[in-house]
Amino acid sequence: MKITRIESHVLLVPDYDASACSSAQDDIIVEIHTDEGIVGVGEVDTNPWVAQAMIHARGTHVLGLGLEEMLIGQDPLQVEALWEKLFIGSYMTGRRGMGICAMGALDMALWDIRGKALGLPCWKMLGGARKDFVTPYASLLPSGHTVDDYRDSLVLKTKEAKARGFRAGKMEVIIKGPYAHNGLDEDDEAIVEIVAACREAAGPDFVMMVDVGYCWRDAKEALRVLKRLEPFDVFFLETPLSLEDMDGYAFLHDHSPIRIAAGELQNSRFEFLELMDRGKVDVAQPDVGRVGGFTEARRVCEMAQDRGRLIVPHCWKTGIGIAASVHLGAATAHCPYIEYLPAELSESMLRREVVRDELVMQDGLISLPQKPGLGIELNREALERYRVDSFCR
Ligand SMILES: [Mg+2]
Repeated sequence: MKITRIESHVLLVPDYDASACSSAQDDIIVEIHTDEGIVGVGEVDTNPWVAQAMIHARGTHVLGLGLEEMLIGQDPLQVEALWEKLFIGSYMTGRRGMGICAMGALDMALWDIRGKALGLPCWKMLGGARKDFVTPYASLLPSGHTVDDYRDSLVLKTKEAKARGFRAGKMEVIIKGPYAHNGLDEDDEAIVEIVAACREAAGPDFVMMVDVGYCWRDAKEALRVLKRLEPFDVFFLETPLSLEDMDGYAFLHDHSPIRIAAGELQNSRFEFLELMDRGKVDVAQPDVGRVGGFTEARRVCEMAQDRGRLIVPHCWKTGIGIAASVHLGAATAHCPYIEYLPAELSESMLRREVVRDELVMQDGLISLPQKPGLGIELNREALERYRVDSFCR
């Protein structure tokens, strides 16, 4: 089998709001075609136009080859070898950041091809089932332009997630720091109050995570609040500090009564190596696309297992990335939860319409997908509707 063609589609919702917190308003979907008619699909959660340029740009020298050019004519079943080829060939422009994101979408599509060619779902090729069900947690992103509205919105979403059968949910409490949005700029007291209100609404049995979006300036400021959150039984606290402050993360690992989670933006296993060994995070959160695809996500899962850390994959995109998280979670023993938003709860039209998947949550659990590859199908009509061809307005 040979790769014959690579297509990429940039999608954008018509009413997108660049000041909003959701990255599910745009997407890049890649399709890798083969001479045997098998087509693999992948996506990555990053700026779609930049990723598109990274994939299709021409190469001009041996440290700066084009990703598409390197793949055309290759055997798509040699996935790990192709990962190495792309990494080395794009070394000057790739290595981290966008280079790894673009490789992630391509690698995901190659695993989809491999599964379709072998008649196996991705989790079987990733080593097989380590569990009968994958447990999703609902990511709850509130609305509201005052702290009271924000809290009430989050409390409502918590109750809704519980009513839908979720066993776990993550409260996005991003009301201070660099990624505060909706005009909010609140203090730590408000963070504690919101978490307390959500715990009261959720009851004692619901597993609760909290994401503060890199809000604290240093580890000691963070630790004061983490200690106050301890009575509310928080499973992990996500991204307390800037990713540049690895020593601060390590300090929190040593002193926090609550597990620390990070990794949604990390590209490649080398960044996870730093996050785990220097930053000592308790919970690593690779996003299958951004970390470099299944090939690299699997290595990160193994690194976490060696170090006694948990894996809880990040995902905030369409059913393609979500399917990828389910397959990774199924094949990873030390992955207690995956991030998951049911299409019907999502405000993103892309999440709701672009992909048909076979995932059903019952009693808060998702059964393992059985179709070959990722087990998803693109809705061509929706793809055409949200497709934008140029980054010019
Ligand atoms: Mg986050």
